[in-house]
Amino acid sequence: MASLKPRNSSGKIIVDKLTKELFLSNVRVSRESTGESHSFDFNKNRCKTLSKNEHIKEHSKGILYWMYRECRIQDNWAIIFAQRLARKQKIPLFVCFTIKDAQEQYPTKRHFKFLLEGLKLIQKECKELNIGFYLLNSSGKDLAKLIVQNEIGGVVCDFSPLRHPRKLQDSLLKELPDYIPVVQVDAHNIVPVWIASDKQEGMARLIRPKITKNLAEFMTGFPIITKHQYSGEMEVENEISKFEDSYDLYTPKWDVPEVKWGDGPGMEAGHSMLHHFIVKNLRHYGETSNDPSKDNTSKLSPWLNFGQISAQRCALEVKSMDSVYKEQCDKYLEELIVRKELTDNYCFYNEFYDNIKGAANWAQETLKIHKKDKRTWVYTREQLAQAKTHDEMWNAAQLQALNEGKIHNYMRMYWCKKILEWTESPEQAIEYGLWLNDTYCLDGTDPNGYVGVMWSICGVHDQGWREREIFGKIRFMVDYSLRRKYNMDAYCARFGRKLLGDAKKTPALTPKDPKKESANDRKKKAVKRKAT
Ligand SMILES: Cc1cc2nc3c(=O)[nH]c(=O)nc-3n(C[C@H](O)[C@H](O)[C@H](O)COP(=O)(O)OP(=O)(O)OC[C@H]3O[C@@H](n4cnc5c(N)ncnc54)[C@H](O)[C@@H]3O)c2cc1C
Repeated sequence: MASLKPRNSSGKIIVDKLTKELFLSNVRVSRESTGESHSFDFNKNRCKTLSKNEHIKEHSKGILYWMYRECRIQDNWAIIFAQRLARKQKIPLFVCFTIKDAQEQYPTKRHFKFLLEGLKLIQKECKELNIGFYLLNSSGKDLAKLIVQNEIGGVVCDFSPLRHPRKLQDSLLKELPDYIPVVQVDAHNIVPVWIASDKQEGMARLIRPKITKNLAEFMTGFPIITKHQYSGEMEVENEISKFEDSYDLYTPKWDVPEVKWGDGPGMEAGHSMLHHFIVKNLRHYGETSNDPSKDNTSKLSPWLNFGQISAQRCALEVKSMDSVYKEQCDKYLEELIVRKELTDNYCFYNEFYDNIKGAANWAQETLKIHKKDKRTWVYTREQLAQAKTHDEMWNAAQLQALNEGKIHNYMRMYWCKKILEWTESPEQAIEYGLWLNDTYCLDGTDPNGYVGVMWSICGVHDQGWREREIFGKIRFMVDYSLRRKYNMDAYCARFGRKLLGDAKKTPALTPKDPKKESANDRKKKAVKRKAT
């Protein structure tokens, strides 16, 4: 693959000389050198035919890409496949996005605006590429009508393991005549979810070898989407001609203030953050990225989850740095590929991905045994949302979500585990955890979020630990250990106290360190059930 990255005489990339301009042109050149959608050797294992028929009817008037999860043009296997079909048939290419029931995926205006601003950029890009873009307020049934009326030869859709998009796809398939082929492309995972495994995998160590063995086949460069040669227009009902009108058609589930994330929505802003991460923070990844006060992870999850950048692009760019930062690259790729793709695997194969029935039997049992354990603190959902707990570190994490739109990964685990400790039951903890995560975090309503909450509260992808109150055998996290490891005062000063403005009035409660507890105290506290 062509590379413009500055190198020293032994071929090593000179990180400090990798400017943003060079980085971005390198991405473009790598696409150009990989080929065009029609000449590239497309791996059909990325695709799944959802319809009975696979063949495009002769004299069709276009190919339609129904965009849902992957809101981008370049680096998107679904539209690459759609353009390839359209070029082979010598017909126009159309993209449509429907905002009907958008609150299911984008529950607040914070989310919806990030989506819409990204789509606006896509519309512009489509215009330059001679691809018709339509923003619609249509149901599956309306879409089916549009496809038939416009004599569309084939439909390409992307993949999401979540309930709502799957329901939408089912309704389209139900309404569409059998002769129109519908092909789904997993453009989110590097190794398509159905190739990585045909069942729910219990842990990262079980899916890792299955993903790794397929990486050589799937982690290729992307061909470029070039200007489409065949023009056309569709006749559509329910089109939203002005983006601003979308807000009148959208009913947010919850009202939260908007936030600004990085340089804002869209691929360019996402790639700008990717460049920043590679040149500034990759060198620390794994070493200090768990430290909430340092905050030097990639911060790419909102763009990834809105489909505005591709995880495969991030993986390719980070991997290209492994001659400089081998260990850090490996650690990052473990998170981005193995951990992330494991969450799609979980949601795809487990219909109960957002409730206690989705937990393993051992976890359901242990939580049931401890359901009635006495809770020292019980908070309402509103108290939690407003960061009004006794724990300043927890409050700081919640305020980070509220004011920034995301929580640092390490704090997210602590934050969610405390929800189990401070609510009336594990069921309520899942409900509150998911609600808080999806309402305030820009990267929410994503498989990573469902699994993050289920891992914290129900031990999903984890093992049993020493048994204790409330948690049973679910892994526990303590405040003093967090303080011992990291500079939590700095974290609280940054996200909590400063924003709360009440630090002086409400001094932090100093958590008790068990090392200072007497053996007698500990004995009294210990749960009498035997841990395995
Ligand atoms: C309770 C809880 C809730 C969470 N909710 C979400 C959520 O709504 N959306 C979300 O994307 N992630 C969620 N996570 C996982 C993780 O916190 C975020 O992916 C991470 O903080 C994103 O920040 P980053 O992009 O800087 O991550 P980086 O550390 O730079 O990681 C790179 C990428 O790897 C992936 N990744 C990292 N950690 C995980 C993980 N534990 N599981 C799966 N993928 C991972 C993400 O795509 C991330 O962007 C949650 C975790 C927990 C414990």
